[in-house]
Parts: sequence; structure tokens; C-alpha cells
Amino acid sequence: MTMRHQIGRRTFLGGGAACVAAPLLAGMPGAAAAAPSFHRLRLGDLVLTAIHDGVWHRPIDASFVRNVPFAAVRQAMAEASMPGDNLPTPFTALLMESGGRRVLIDTGTGGQIAPTANALADNLAAAAIDARTIDLVLISHFHPDHINGLKTKDNARVFPNAEIRLPAAEWAFWMDDANLRAAPQAMRLYFLNARRVLADLAADIVQFTEGEVAHGVTAIAAHGHTPGHTVFAIASGRESLLVLGDTSNHPALFVRHPDWQPVIDMDGPRAAATRRRLLDRAASDRMLVHGYHFPFPACGSIVRDGMGFAFVPSST
Ligand SMILES: [Zn+2]
Repeated sequence: MTMRHQIGRRTFLGGGAACVAAPLLAGMPGAAAAAPSFHRLRLGDLVLTAIHDGVWHRPIDASFVRNVPFAAVRQAMAEASMPGDNLPTPFTALLMESGGRRVLIDTGTGGQIAPTANALADNLAAAAIDARTIDLVLISHFHPDHINGLKTKDNARVFPNAEIRLPAAEWAFWMDDANLRAAPQAMRLYFLNARRVLADLAADIVQFTEGEVAHGVTAIAAHGHTPGHTVFAIASGRESLLVLGDTSNHPALFVRHPDWQPVIDMDGPRAAATRRRLLDRAASDRMLVHGYHFPFPACGSIVRDGMGFAFVPSST
């Protein structure tokens, strides 16, 4: 609660967002409504808006990172002022506006992951974005925290006028019946969820591999976290931003220590290699980044730091 308030307050005071949010606040009851969490930034000719969905306080134990002792994980958390056994896992989607078109990258949890994460719709509204005006939704991968925002719990479409573009390799993996049959029970839920959310949207779905998927947006294969996990490079003028998706979960752990392998990466070694390659690119090319699970506003830059990297949050 305290954290959410601070996040919202920082956003509220943080420049452009305040202009839009202030008139809307007057009509919103309650303390939570006083903290609309969206963050606008310009990238060349584009306007980008990070839209916060909330935070899941994920309980973790020694099994969370496969290849280091839990004491090292806890120490990294403590160094980042995150004591305890819960890892704060924020969810923040990214909206891009260009030439009158609105493109949303990943969709939030749909309120179906954690009771503390169901704010995407409210924060879109607070940012004066009508969900019906989203033209295109890009999906990084099929984990529920990225696709479930496409539908309500009752299976109604949240972005009724949007085309949906998603990685062909994700579709091939999660929609394959042999893969479903071979999956352990916990994984079966992911397969079934992907089918619930996506199967009846097929008429509006376009699959992509790599290359341009929207004006100024290039899809880059970033496999490892899932078999088809994809990141997006957004370019405008001389500026560019890398939408990292789940290349790294919390940056205090996996940007700082890119070789650590969390259990949430389906192919640990491959995901670690992808992570190091993309973080290195972001640092070398001085790209801005957006990380879906990075602390809000989820946007900033990557710098080299010892054997790893550090995430420097955007302050404007
Ligand atoms: Zn995720």
C-alpha cells in the first residue's frame, strides 16, 4: 500500500502525467484512486505511456533461482531494500502512440493473477486512453500475466477493436496438443489458459516471426524464458527503446546478475544467454529499456556494473 502510494505520487508529480491525471482525480473516491500509475515519455516523434497493473508479492524460497544459493538471492534483495521472502513483482504494460495509431505491448494480468494487480483498466482510463481505441496489441509471450489482460474473467474482450500480433513460436508451442499432454500438471494450466484466452480470438490474430510488426517496431527473438519469447525494439528518429518483456524479472536480481537462472525461465541457460546479449546491446547502444517486471515506471536505461548490469530508472 505504502509502496503503491509512493509510486503513484511520484508519477503524479512527474511532469506530463500530472496534467492529464489531475482533473480525473477529483471524481475518484478512496486513497487508491489518488495514485493513478501511468508514466509518459517521448521517444522521437512517439509518445509512450507505461501503464501499471499492480504488484504481486511473490513468495520465493531456495528453489526460485536454480544455480545460486538462496543466501545470495536474499543478499541481493536486501541490498535493494527488499528484505523478506516475498519478491515484489510489478506488472507494467507499454502503450505506444504514433500517427494516430495506438499499440499496446502486453496486456496486464486481467486481475487474474494476484488481488494486488488489477489496475490496468483504471490506469488506462486515468491516462485518458479508451480501451476501444487500441488498434493493435503486441504480445511478448503467452504467460498469463502478459496475455490475460486481453479478456475479463468472464471471457469478454477488453480491446474489442484491436488486432493481435504474437510470436509464431509461442503459438506453435502452447497450442500443440502433444506438448500439452507431455507437460507436468502445473504447466498444463499455462497451456489451458493460453487456449482459453486466445483460441476464440484467432480471427483477429496475426502471427509473426521477426522483423517489423508495427510502424517503427521490430520484433527480436529472445527465446529461453519461453520457447517463443520476443522483445520489441521501438525506434523514432535517433532514439530507440528496447521492450524487454521477461528478458529479466526483477532487475535487482537478474539485471544485476544476468547469469542467475530463475525457475520461471523455461530454458535457464538459453534465457541467461539471451538476457546477457540483450542487456549488453541496450547498454552498448544506449537504448532506453522497458521491463515488464521492473519497478514502476518500468522505463530507464541499462549500464554495465561489475560482472553484470544495473537498471537506472527513468526520472523524467
Ligand atoms: Zn511475466
